[in-house]
Amino acid sequence: MFKDDIDRLRAMGLERTLTARTSKQGPRIVMEGREYINFASNDYLSLASDPRLLSAAGEAVMRYGAGGGASRLLGGGCEAHACLERKLADFKRAEAALFFASGYAANTGAIAALAGRGDAIFSDELNHASIIDGCRLSRAVTHIYRHRDLDHLGRLLAASGAARRLVVTDTVFSMTGELAPVDRIYKCCEAHGAMLYLDDAHGTGVLGAGHGALEHFGLSVQPWLIQMGTCSKALGTQGAFIAASADVVRWLINKARSFIYSTAPSPAIVAAAAAAIDAVTPELVARLWANQALATEALGTPSDTPIIALGTASCTLEVAAALLARGIYAPAIRPPTVPEALIRITVTAGHAPEDIAELGRAVREALK
Ligand SMILES: *Cc1c(COP(=O)(O)O)cnc(C)c1O
Repeated sequence: MFKDDIDRLRAMGLERTLTARTSKQGPRIVMEGREYINFASNDYLSLASDPRLLSAAGEAVMRYGAGGGASRLLGGGCEAHACLERKLADFKRAEAALFFASGYAANTGAIAALAGRGDAIFSDELNHASIIDGCRLSRAVTHIYRHRDLDHLGRLLAASGAARRLVVTDTVFSMTGELAPVDRIYKCCEAHGAMLYLDDAHGTGVLGAGHGALEHFGLSVQPWLIQMGTCSKALGTQGAFIAASADVVRWLINKARSFIYSTAPSPAIVAAAAAAIDAVTPELVARLWANQALATEALGTPSDTPIIALGTASCTLEVAAALLARGIYAPAIRPPTVPEALIRITVTAGHAPEDIAELGRAVREALK
């Protein structure tokens, strides 16, 4: 069963397989006995292996145990969860926050709790798969607006008679690295009386001195604004959160199925995520952006974020293989994740200038 199906994918060059790293995550990793310079992680601040996070995780395990043991509503949460949620709310300048086991769980659970039958969702066509799945689970009518197209969004909002309208966008599009026009979307939602849900997975720890897209665009929190962020990217750990008004958080505690029907995340990751927030300083974020500037320069490819999408026409897999042979891990991203295959380079605070110079040389060589 499924052998023919998977063989067909392989024949099309679309079969995905797993790698097993034997080192910590970071700017340099070891796979199958060889060291690579790693340009594939979302560990933007190189916190995944930071000793402060490791000891926070270790201490929490010794104090609260290895697993949550139950859902949050049935005693699975401990004071580490409450402490993290307070920190996350403050970090996002919001009234309250709620922690989820993953970004995927946060988007599917929260979006489906915020919009239901009879409501309308307005979603950018390049939004993350977890948003798309959240829209489907919600049973609301979903209007897909053209990528970053405010005129289209405005027309759809004006034409909708739904009582509750929720606009959803990635702040940083995860595969192309483009920024959403969050300031214009915010104004549009304000004008139309719609709620705005920002997926700040790649903005948290990266934009706005680390606080995220809202801070980057100089916008303030609102009762109609919901910020989602992840701890699995720049914060180096796992899990995600919704930062919003206290009422929205109370609603999600009661209605978000991925929160209710799932075991409380392990105290280890909760405590490590709290340590990560303490570790986000303007200096660390500035180091990330200094490396981002070096990398866009070295590659001759502009980007507004640490994600640099390298178009390589039809030879993406060959370029990725050439980079790998040279000790650089920057794999190809293929359909259906993106419409056209590309090499997705992510720069982190921990890369040395020599790593980035080597990336530039290797890409030029591979493209020949
Ligand atoms: C990675 C990502 C998610 C999912 O977060 P996980 O914590 O990895 O489950 C959600 N939205 C966007 C935009 C992402 O890039």
